[in-house]
Amino acid sequence: MMRKSMKKAVLGAMCAAFLMMSTGCSAVSSITGGGYTSDEPCAWCGETPTKEFETSEGTPCYICEEHTHECGVCGKNFDEELNHYTNLMGIEMFACDECYQDVQEMNQN
Ligand SMILES: [Zn+2]
Ligand SMILES: [Zn+2]
Repeated sequence: MMRKSMKKAVLGAMCAAFLMMSTGCSAVSSITGGGYTSDEPCAWCGETPTKEFETSEGTPCYICEEHTHECGVCGKNFDEELNHYTNLMGIEMFACDECYQDVQEMNQN
């Protein structure tokens, strides 16, 4: 009895979470997204909300949640916020562990 009702509750919570994600309202992502609260447009796509990052020149750079989770080199999507560096255009570039290492090596040569 106990187990069965537990399972139902978990399922219900998952459904609710899924519903919240699919409606994609900015209020939800600011709660769950960890710092994506800025109204500045994303440097990559112009979407909001964004999170503020600092470039190697010390200027602020705003990136949306989608682009901090997508590798700018191989194009794969990840569940966590990726490593980032400042590219030649002065925009923060996000890369997965593998690609980030490649980029670091390229920059050293
Ligand atoms: Zn973006
Ligand atoms: Zn990658």
